[in-house]
Amino acid sequence: MHGAGGYFVSGSFLSDYITAAWGHQFLAGKAELAPKAARRRDGRCPGVGHGCGHNLIGTASCGAAIALKQAWPDMPGTVAVMGTPAEEGGGGKIIMLEKGAFKGVDASMMFHPSFRYDIGSPSLAAAMMTFRFHGRAAHGAVDPHRGINAADAAMLTFAGINAFRQHITSDARIHGVIKHTGDKANITPDYSEIDMVVRAATREYMEELVERVLDCARGASLMTRATFEVERGMTYYDSRQCDSYDYLARENFAKLGIKAEQPGGDVPKASGDGGNVSHAIPHLGITAAISDHVINGHSVEWRDASISPRGHQAMMESAKVLAMTMCDLLYRPDVLERIRAEHKVVTARK
Ligand SMILES: [Zn+2]
Ligand SMILES: [Zn+2]
Repeated sequence: MHGAGGYFVSGSFLSDYITAAWGHQFLAGKAELAPKAARRRDGRCPGVGHGCGHNLIGTASCGAAIALKQAWPDMPGTVAVMGTPAEEGGGGKIIMLEKGAFKGVDASMMFHPSFRYDIGSPSLAAAMMTFRFHGRAAHGAVDPHRGINAADAAMLTFAGINAFRQHITSDARIHGVIKHTGDKANITPDYSEIDMVVRAATREYMEELVERVLDCARGASLMTRATFEVERGMTYYDSRQCDSYDYLARENFAKLGIKAEQPGGDVPKASGDGGNVSHAIPHLGITAAISDHVINGHSVEWRDASISPRGHQAMMESAKVLAMTMCDLLYRPDVLERIRAEHKVVTARK
């Protein structure tokens, strides 16, 4: 079918892998938190949704594409808008990358809401894991000596992690939640489950920390005699930025009268599946402020800001910057060549 602005709109891509890949919500501009698939597989916070402002991401991309097509009907290239759900946790772009969605694509770009304007905010490598401990149920008073306490194994895992936290570099993040412990105080818990994320600036260090975290769980298993198994989920790569690509976006923000920062070392870093894309092709990540003051990610405040007039303003500003940056790439092939040459260098380093 043909959509707004003369764009060809295809159905869901790789529907075997990603259902509802391109939510109608985005095209209609409805203030949904995220497409359904993303809400299921992404980092959903009870009562908040994801609370990350992803409703603005797809709409900004659509806005950029529609503006570009209208302003430049015979542009010398093809622009594709991809719906990529489950950015955090489900790895929508990782699956799409592996299945060839980015094949033949010269460069990609996206916007994420924030409380500040920045360009090329670096993201951390991240490993998602599920830990499961199996014990043996028993009566809490009658025969606890025959029980094996799986909840203790989960708690001891965190005790171990907290003991080595002091001795890791400051870029690393280890955070998990106990998703299941037990049901009643008078029953020895026979099952516990941990949702765990390990992050670091490089994949190499992240894997080193994953092993240490696994050792804590193995140690907890040994101490309690609960069996331990781990299910490894998605691996997110740290992002690789090209200064020459970031420069274009910064200049375009400046044309709108906005000073977009290059984030320094003190800026909190998240992880996203755009990191994996950035290893394959030049990838630009910009953020725009949906709030005048600092707000916490994945919170009610962030959720509310993402459907506020300020949030919509950030979406429009981002759509303009994305469209203008796309113009730069299409209009000046030498710039794209320079970015691609730089990309080879930044992805060659460890
Ligand atoms: Zn997000
Ligand atoms: Zn998020």
